[in-house]
Amino acid sequence: MPAVFVGHGTPMNAIEDNGWSRGFAELGRSLPRPRAALVVSAHFYIEGTCVTGQEHPPTIHDFGGFPPALSAVRYPAPGDPALAARVVALLGAERATVTHEWGLDHGTWSVLLHAWPDASIPIVQLSIDERLRPSEHTAIGKAIGALRDEGVMIIGSGNIVHNLRDAFARLRARESSTPDWAIRFDETVTAAIEARDLSALETALQFGDGPIAHPSPDHYLPLLYVMGAARTSDRARYPITGFDLGSLSMRTVVLDAP
Ligand code: ZN
Repeated sequence: MPAVFVGHGTPMNAIEDNGWSRGFAELGRSLPRPRAALVVSAHFYIEGTCVTGQEHPPTIHDFGGFPPALSAVRYPAPGDPALAARVVALLGAERATVTHEWGLDHGTWSVLLHAWPDASIPIVQLSIDERLRPSEHTAIGKAIGALRDEGVMIIGSGNIVHNLRDAFARLRARESSTPDWAIRFDETVTAAIEARDLSALETALQFGDGPIAHPSPDHYLPLLYVMGAARTSDRARYPITGFDLGSLSMRTVVLDAP
C-alpha cells in the first residue's frame, strides 16, 4: 500500500466543491483501496502516542467559528480494534496505548469523505506525541511502515506550509498572492522528500523559513510519519500542489512502488 501525506487545508474543504475537494476525490479514485487506513492527523496532537480503538469511532468537530453545516458532518467509517492492537504491538505497550477518548477529527474526515465517500474502509487514528523529538516521530513512522505490507494505507494529514495567522490575514485583506517564504519552504521540503533526506526533514522547522512556515509543528509532523514509512524503492508523486489562502501549501505526497 502507498504511504500518503495529504494537505487538508481549511475544514470548509469538507463541504465545498472546490479544486481541493475535487483533488481529494480524484486521489481516492486513483489509489488502491486498502483493507484499512491508519491516519496521523495534525489535530490529534497530545501528550502520548494513542490509537483509536473503537468499533465505531465518533466524528469529532474540533474547530469553532464555522457554519453549522460543518458541525453536522458525520463520517461513519468503522474503526478497526484489531489494527489498533497491532499498532500497539508494533510500537510496544510502553510507547503506545489504545484510547476511546478520540475519534475521527476533521484532518481525517474533511479529506476522506471525498476520497472514500462510502465510508466503508476502517479508519484508525494515531496521535502525535507533542513531547517527542522529530527523529522519534520518524522512528514511529518506520515502525508502522510494516503495515503497508498488510493492506493498510498510512496517511499523514497536515500541511507542508501552515501559518494560519498569515493565511487569515491574507483572506481578510483579499490578498491571495503567495509569499516568497512559503514558496521557498514548500520547495525545500519537496527537495528533501525527493532526496529521502530524513535529517533535513527532521530539522526543517529550525532553520531559514521553518519558523514562519510553522509557528507550531503540528501540521508538519504527520509528514515525518509518512517519510518514516517510506522505502528507498518508493517513488514520490505530488497529485495535488498549490496554495490555498495565499500561504497554505496543499501539496499532497504519494509514496509507492513504481
Ligand atoms: Zn488542520
